[in-house]
Amino acid sequence: MTSYKVRWSKFYFLAAAIFMTGCGEHKFSMSAPYKAVVLAFTGKDANGRAEYALAERTFRTLTNFNELDGTYLSLRRGGRLTIKDVNGSLVSSESFSGGQSPDLRYQVKSGTAMSLDYSTLAMLSAYYQVDEIYSTLEEKIGVVPSDLQSVLPAGKHTMLFEPEIKISGPGRDVSAGIKLNAAYSPADKKFLLFQRSPIEAVPLAANFQVVTHEYGHFIFDYSFQAGKYDANNRWNDEWALNGLNEGFADFISWSFTDSTDILRSSIDIDSVADERDFGKTTFVFQDLAASEPEACKSDFYCLGSLFARSLYETQQALKATVSKKDLALGTINAIKKCQEAMGSMPETMLPPKADTSSMSRAEIFERDGKITGAFLRAFVQNAPAAWKVDLCSALKKNFGTSGFPEAARDGSCD
Ligand SMILES: [Zn+2]
Repeated sequence: MTSYKVRWSKFYFLAAAIFMTGCGEHKFSMSAPYKAVVLAFTGKDANGRAEYALAERTFRTLTNFNELDGTYLSLRRGGRLTIKDVNGSLVSSESFSGGQSPDLRYQVKSGTAMSLDYSTLAMLSAYYQVDEIYSTLEEKIGVVPSDLQSVLPAGKHTMLFEPEIKISGPGRDVSAGIKLNAAYSPADKKFLLFQRSPIEAVPLAANFQVVTHEYGHFIFDYSFQAGKYDANNRWNDEWALNGLNEGFADFISWSFTDSTDILRSSIDIDSVADERDFGKTTFVFQDLAASEPEACKSDFYCLGSLFARSLYETQQALKATVSKKDLALGTINAIKKCQEAMGSMPETMLPPKADTSSMSRAEIFERDGKITGAFLRAFVQNAPAAWKVDLCSALKKNFGTSGFPEAARDGSCD
């Protein structure tokens, strides 16, 4: 009897709260450009660590506030996402169904929306990060938004906020892949934001460094595969290319934030944040030879950090003449030509697609090194000639002859 009463009083409280606040909130009138308090990236401290604060920001590409719909992005909440496979923060999604409007809960004070719950704050913040990316895209990486829209379904991305996940793939530990709760799905250009985990400081979904990293996967997909994702493309499941893609994504994050310390603001456990800070790490490709390398434990992300570090060091060396924007655009344009250039390389330089499960660790490492080297060769050959000396010096230092073999250097960095 007692519990019955308690339940009813709770129900009434809830119903009253929804009636008084839930319905009313949607009727606040605001007009574009919309303003809201979001979790915003505010710069970096003396150690290069990104700083975040709750701050009022103006959305520049959002056209319907309550639906979180705008020129480049539409957000959907909930729904059911079926996932086939996960590689790092890249997800192969099979289907998505359902999904509702965001159901934002907020109050408006002096024309600015103030969130009334965590989900609203997270959704507004995540939306704002993409709004900020598109508002500064040309200034930061030299790419015009309309060029990217041409490869997007209906000209815009969709962001899924906390969808229910169903795994369809056989035998793979997909849950490990989604524990970092932000991902990108190249097939449909969707950004995925999963449930918040208790280990995050700045929620990953609202972290500008993480959103720009996921966005970097879209730019890689736009560059390397011309935005036309093909599920059968041989590079989708190749360790070396997965790593290079991750490193490129960190490089794009740095292009937007100027911080190489990608994860520390959100996750600072074990050595994960240290390993990803490509401005500070010192391991090289040969250090990844063992099946469980001591120097870096994050699998293909480690290879990625070497690529990001090489681009970063090239920019440091050339900073008098090559801006960060020039470097980003030149890198994107070179990657656009890599797949074709790799297609004409001999098998001695670029091993064919293979099942590596029966190979020894040494054979796998040699094969991964050749594939990495083939990509680097194609990249250098298509990068601006003025970068060559410094780019080659950085690549040789970070990849050595195991990740950038002599054969691949011949005609590119010899
Ligand atoms: Zn990633």
